[in-house]
Amino acid sequence: MNLVLFGPPGSGKGTQAQKVCQAFRLRHISTGDELRAAIIAKSPVGLRASEIMARGELVSDELVTELLRTAIVARRAETDSFLFDGYPRTTSQVGQLDQLCEEQKLQQPAVVLLHVPDETLLLRMTGRRICTECKRSYNVYFSPSRRSGVCDFCHAPLMKRVDDNAETIRERLKIYHDQSVPVLKQYEKRGVLATIDATGDTELVFQKISRILEQYY
Ligand code: AMP
Repeated sequence: MNLVLFGPPGSGKGTQAQKVCQAFRLRHISTGDELRAAIIAKSPVGLRASEIMARGELVSDELVTELLRTAIVARRAETDSFLFDGYPRTTSQVGQLDQLCEEQKLQQPAVVLLHVPDETLLLRMTGRRICTECKRSYNVYFSPSRRSGVCDFCHAPLMKRVDDNAETIRERLKIYHDQSVPVLKQYEKRGVLATIDATGDTELVFQKISRILEQYY
């Protein structure tokens, strides 16, 4: 099966994606992670994307879809089951994902929306810290690491994402409501959308997602 894990920035998509991929044997593709890797590698895509991302705006559909296609093709020989995290984010990306699925002979994805109110998202994002090595996510307010600034698992330093500052977060939430929420209407019409309350603790949210996915197995 294929899954789109959908939700506003800070809704816990990355954390849940790791758990879901492990439990259901899906390959995780996060367009945000792909873009951040391109920026670190200083590739032409990274150079074009870095300022746009720092402002909290969306990278162009063409650029991000090409990045997604490359990521799928690189993993396609190993699997036909993907978890898409952060894509699609605009209504035209919905059509582009349809085309990619057809082209790569992948089943159309199920969609799970992680619903979290904006006030909670603000706290989650301003407090978010990511491990520079294993990419595990912590939060200084809700789930701090045992030693401040250091990952519990691989002991690498934690970092704050450049786009996790209050001004950029407001912009990202506005863009989510204006451009990404309409995506949900399309999936709702197809009858493939399930919405869950994602404000509870990580394990509880994971159980809710699992109950939905079990219907597909
Ligand atoms: P994320 O890690 O999913 O929060 O994405 C971080 C940033 O990457 C977003 O704020 C956008 O600038 C960019 N980005 C990620 N996925 C997409 C997408 N599907 N379409 C456009 N921009 C994206």
